[in-house]
Amino acid sequence: MCLLPAVNARAQATESFLGMQIQKAPHSGLWEGPTDYSTNLKPTGVVKAVMLFALFPDTVIKEVPRDIYNRLVPESQAFLGRVSGGQMQLKVDTVDQWFPMNHPTTWPGYDCSGFKTQKAYLAEVISKAAGQVDFHKYDVVYVVGSLGTGLPNSPTFIASPGDGIKVNGAEVRLGVTFGRDCRGANWGWQTLCHETGHIFGLPDLYLFGVPAKPYKNIHASVGFWDLMGFQAVGSPYLAWQQRKLTWLKDKDFAVIARGTKPITVWIRPILSSDRKGYAAAAIPISDSEAIACEVRQRDPVDTNPADTGLLVYRVSLKAESGHGPITILPAAADDLVPAQERKFITLYNALYTAAATIELKQEGVTISILGRREDGAIQIRVAH
Ligand SMILES: [Zn+2]
Repeated sequence: MCLLPAVNARAQATESFLGMQIQKAPHSGLWEGPTDYSTNLKPTGVVKAVMLFALFPDTVIKEVPRDIYNRLVPESQAFLGRVSGGQMQLKVDTVDQWFPMNHPTTWPGYDCSGFKTQKAYLAEVISKAAGQVDFHKYDVVYVVGSLGTGLPNSPTFIASPGDGIKVNGAEVRLGVTFGRDCRGANWGWQTLCHETGHIFGLPDLYLFGVPAKPYKNIHASVGFWDLMGFQAVGSPYLAWQQRKLTWLKDKDFAVIARGTKPITVWIRPILSSDRKGYAAAAIPISDSEAIACEVRQRDPVDTNPADTGLLVYRVSLKAESGHGPITILPAAADDLVPAQERKFITLYNALYTAAATIELKQEGVTISILGRREDGAIQIRVAH
């Protein structure tokens, strides 16, 4: 889940993004402003990856590479194709064998707690596969380690140009080392799509450095509403993040600047196959913060348009990955029974599902929900 990018001071940008004049990215580059594609990967067209399997000497193998591939890849391909509206396709080749590693999972040199050790682990697998794989052909290298006691979770590897792993004239800069977590129940393909989201420049939306008990503390900002938060539910990325991924454009948002006349618009469900009309509203409240709203269903497998509601959230371009760049402003507090809490963790009642007036006094924004169409679209009036 965590991310270990190479530190890369980013040049100043002055791009216009959803009505905001962007001054500068934070240090790590993983934020809610425009993505720096000199380091991260643009998720359009065919994204080519290769998946390799690392066998550590301290494991007794009970898995075969093909089963791991099937656990992680096909549903990821379907998810990314669907949420991108067909704008990207993930292609994953594999070498259907284990590559034996020199050291056990407990060897500190593989611990993946820092860029150097993760690079060393990846570099060993890549060098062992170099006779069978032409790494020039791939944007991303996925490595799945065999399940030993020291195997860490699944961090993403992002190296700046020049800092990657050199192999036969190619440079591998982007990858994921899959570990223990992707074997958990409901924690398979979602892990691949979460980590690949980092490769595409998305920040973590769960919170770093907060007490883990109760567990919902970690997910207090966005809960399960975006795969970069609590991932098990498999929710699509929020509309703001889809703008960042370039799957949505500025024109897909009703951008409502301060001081304009109140505006009334329809917002379509985020995963609607009919992509006409607005996918979300963006209401900048400063050059680094905005309110956004979009039409969602709580459960991503639910296709009943009667179940849609309005999800309202605050976006901060000042907050870095893991420090609350997005905070959902829920319609109501949780009233979860234990089974629901296990599945959804928190922010279960975040959607506004009926006519309502949402007054954000501090931000000077009022959002009124006026009506709903048969296709699940919701009409809002925004005064700012
Ligand atoms: Zn993450």
